[in-house]
Amino acid sequence: MSGRLTIVGLGPGDERYLTPEADDALTIAEALYGYGPYLDRVPVREDQTRHASDNREESTRAKAALRHAAKGAEVALVSGGDPGVFAMAATVCEEIAAGPKAWRDLDIRVVPGITAMLAVAAKAGAPLGHDFCAISLSDNLKPWELVLKRLDAAAEAGFVVALYNPVSRARPWQFGEALARLSRHLPGITPVVFGRAVGREEESITIATLEKAPAIKADMATLVIVGSAETRLIPREGLPPLVYTPRAAEKVTA
Ligand code: SAH
Repeated sequence: MSGRLTIVGLGPGDERYLTPEADDALTIAEALYGYGPYLDRVPVREDQTRHASDNREESTRAKAALRHAAKGAEVALVSGGDPGVFAMAATVCEEIAAGPKAWRDLDIRVVPGITAMLAVAAKAGAPLGHDFCAISLSDNLKPWELVLKRLDAAAEAGFVVALYNPVSRARPWQFGEALARLSRHLPGITPVVFGRAVGREEESITIATLEKAPAIKADMATLVIVGSAETRLIPREGLPPLVYTPRAAEKVTA
């Protein structure tokens, strides 16, 4: 009997952001795989086995989940946010491409989730209202020069840029360099949104400008949205400002 592997997006944290489809996938699973803190978000059930792993062990985790499903089991592999955005769905596809034929015969499903940039954007207004892109600042799987090239291209082309994985203990300086790089193309008053631990108890949203952004703390739980030259801010008395990017672009900005 051929099993099934469902790669489930849990959303950014708040359980109200978990879709009913994701909830169903977690309910029917016999075995749950995932990075420990993500698995901790799923209530423990006696009739499900749990296989937590470290965040650096994506390939090993994907292979273990595939092997388990290939034995005929109903397996769920959980991811924070959306599983297709800098996450486990691509890892699973890479392992299937390189793995035994039996893995290609499996029923593979990807259940989408709300990705961090959408959750952060919603808290700030509508910074992604016009063309945008997402770039991970992690250089574990790509050279830093490529990140810089993409930042240049994105800012030059007038994209709003969502920065995932801005900082980690192993990568303390890259975020500052990325902001400096974007500053070559954008005015200092460009709005920048920092969303930390969105959807969790310790959530915080900070709105800054590109010139002030280097002084704001970012960590692995932070998603940063750097506006384009068109992104604007509406100040409101006694209320947080609204950050938005108008839907229409009239001129070539770069
Ligand atoms: N698959 C995830 C992204 C994984 S990369 C998703 O779709 O959201 C991990 C990065 O996502 C973090 O470094 C951070 O930049 C961002 N992130 C994940 N959860 C977040 C949250 N609750 N609040 C803010 N940023 C978050």
